[in-house]
Amino acid sequence: MHTTCVSFVDFDMIDNIIPISGEKLSQVDRQFLNEFKLAFNDRYCRHGCNQCIAACPHHLPVSTMMRYAYYYVCQGKEKDAIQKYARLNEWNGSHCFGCDAPCLESCPYGVNVQANLIQAHSLLTLV
Ligand code: SF4
Ligand code: SF4
Repeated sequence: MHTTCVSFVDFDMIDNIIPISGEKLSQVDRQFLNEFKLAFNDRYCRHGCNQCIAACPHHLPVSTMMRYAYYYVCQGKEKDAIQKYARLNEWNGSHCFGCDAPCLESCPYGVNVQANLIQAHSLLTLV
């Protein structure tokens, strides 16, 4: 072992992942991944990308905000995600409500920045 995966949350995950380490992808695996790409390509914000920041008048940290929503939804780390989002202070999705969204054309992957940030903000904000 030469690295760690910090998103592992229990030892069962290690038991599930280690046996497939080093295995080649099967045709079924490739087909599944291609279908996954077709379904989620324009819904997945690339971690650390931030190509759309320049288009946002508030310079929101878009990929960070969507990553926190990912922690909440996909990794089940609700509390951690909400706490991290709160630490962004005023750099949050509240600015996206009613915005003219000049960011919309700026994602090369077709991610709907405004809709995703509004969804992330609703998810990660305690009211
Ligand atoms: S929405 Fe698109 S351009 Fe913006 S950070 Fe995510 S992947 Fe990059
Ligand atoms: S919708 Fe949100 S991310 Fe897009 S420009 Fe407006 S404030 Fe920035």
